[in-house]
Amino acid sequence: MERTARLIATATRLPEPDDLAVLPAGVEWLEVRADRARDRSGRELPARRIRKLRERCGGLVYTLRSRVEGGSGPDDPSARADRLIEAGRSTRHRPSPWDLVDLEAERDLHPSVLDAIEPERRILSWHGATANPETLEARLDAMLETPARYYKLIPAAVQPGEELAPLRLLHALGRDDVIAFASGRAGLWTRLLAPRLGAPVVYGAFPGDAPGAPGQPGVDRLVTDYGLPALPAADALFGVVGRPVDHSLSPRLHNRAYRELGVRALYLAFHAEHFGDFWLEVVESGVLEHLGFPLHGLSVTTPYKEAALALSGAQSPRAAAIGAANTLVRSRRAPEVWEAESTDPEGVVLPLRDLDVALDGTPAAVVGAGGAGRSAVVGLREAGADVTLVNRTEERGRRAAESLGVGFVPLAELDPSAYRIVVHATSLGRAPDDPLPFDPAALAPDTVVVDLVYTDRETPLLTAAREAGCTAVDGREVLLSQALEQFRMMTGRELPGDLAHRALGISPATRRDAGRAPGGEA
Ligand code: NAP
Repeated sequence: MERTARLIATATRLPEPDDLAVLPAGVEWLEVRADRARDRSGRELPARRIRKLRERCGGLVYTLRSRVEGGSGPDDPSARADRLIEAGRSTRHRPSPWDLVDLEAERDLHPSVLDAIEPERRILSWHGATANPETLEARLDAMLETPARYYKLIPAAVQPGEELAPLRLLHALGRDDVIAFASGRAGLWTRLLAPRLGAPVVYGAFPGDAPGAPGQPGVDRLVTDYGLPALPAADALFGVVGRPVDHSLSPRLHNRAYRELGVRALYLAFHAEHFGDFWLEVVESGVLEHLGFPLHGLSVTTPYKEAALALSGAQSPRAAAIGAANTLVRSRRAPEVWEAESTDPEGVVLPLRDLDVALDGTPAAVVGAGGAGRSAVVGLREAGADVTLVNRTEERGRRAAESLGVGFVPLAELDPSAYRIVVHATSLGRAPDDPLPFDPAALAPDTVVVDLVYTDRETPLLTAAREAGCTAVDGREVLLSQALEQFRMMTGRELPGDLAHRALGISPATRRDAGRAPGGEA
């Protein structure tokens, strides 16, 4: 039978029993953060509500996270003991509704607390600063002196490599009662690998709630993007590296395809503060092989596409021309060599071809001279378009335009009405308060606007472009188109198109319906 992990939704607001209906299938347990959760009238955990919640879920966890360990609860052991005993004490006449109570190993192991909460209902926890595997192991040894159902150790991680200690610990232990992963954005991926190294539980934020801890993903994301609670066998790791990567839809796309095609792999999101350090500490260190999960390929995103090319051992002519790579794969002949490729040009060109947009000789502006913009220039130029590169910083833009052999216009002087295709490739548009990169009212109505930036829904630039009468190509469509070749390079298989559209929430039918050729060309 396929292994599974227990998924626990962390509620930082006290849900109504009916709210549990929003939990995705597979999430049966609820952790209530007693240090933060209040009901709508500001009351702390009313007993009737808690009993009702317990009736509706598979299990309840009571957590009173202290301030020193990242919560809002008291640090003082005696103030904590009263509340823990009140919540956790179970008698024959008054059973506790809490199946598990989180006890902080540094401050909650007073005999009166241990007396009230029997070992099989205890999670012994520690949340603290970055630690190496030896320190974590010594800490665990001390914790093991107190019997408990689970032992939880969560060190923080910021710099690449700091997130590895909890995984090394799990691997060395081979136990099934230790929950260990790294907190913080850099630790996101360790939450996904930990259950494959024996950790019995994965925590995710209750849908719509603030994360219970730094780097905690939504529980819906754990299910949608990573297929939890199922843990199908994985012999290889892939992933996307960037800063940030939390928004990336690539894990959803790739993991769904692996499951549908029976590919024994897992695709993770690696947030790296520094690419060089990530490369050294996580990729080249051999630690992932040691853990039994060799890394075979990476998608590379902002701002590391140039660095990825520089660190690779072999470059395709196309990646070399762009000066950036969005894909790194181990060479099949010499696995120690990483080959760099850019599939970004297809990202822009394939959706335009799907829309029957005429490219040959068509005036096209690419706004943004980073890796994505330069790739769009290469793709459009190869397809015969008459391309102009546009950039905010003149010097960078001119240099890129010269090396690619196209014209240049500073962003401040852009006249969007002069182009039939406008590709937006700056970093603006993901944050809700970002300004628009240029005035969409100045677009001619027969223009196709491709926005490389994507979110879960249409970007403000595309909405404005549609309102101006233009045809809009969503960044998710671009993501899918560049992923086709990337998926082929990584797995040797074809990414099923219908699955990919479903995974990204876009429909090919809508896309085609939305399409109109520029200048009336069919
Ligand atoms: P990058 O190398 O960091 O380049 C960023 C570009 O944005 C530069 O041209 C920069 O101009 C410009 N920029 C940044 N802030 C700006 C501002 N406030 N006003 C005007 N221009 C600004 O990034 P990249 O890798 O090329 O990626 C660019 C965007 O495309 C990112 O949002 C990325 O997520 C997206 N992307 C999407 C896909 C997809 O599949 N949909 C694929 C690749 C990339 P300066 O030179 O003046 O700093």
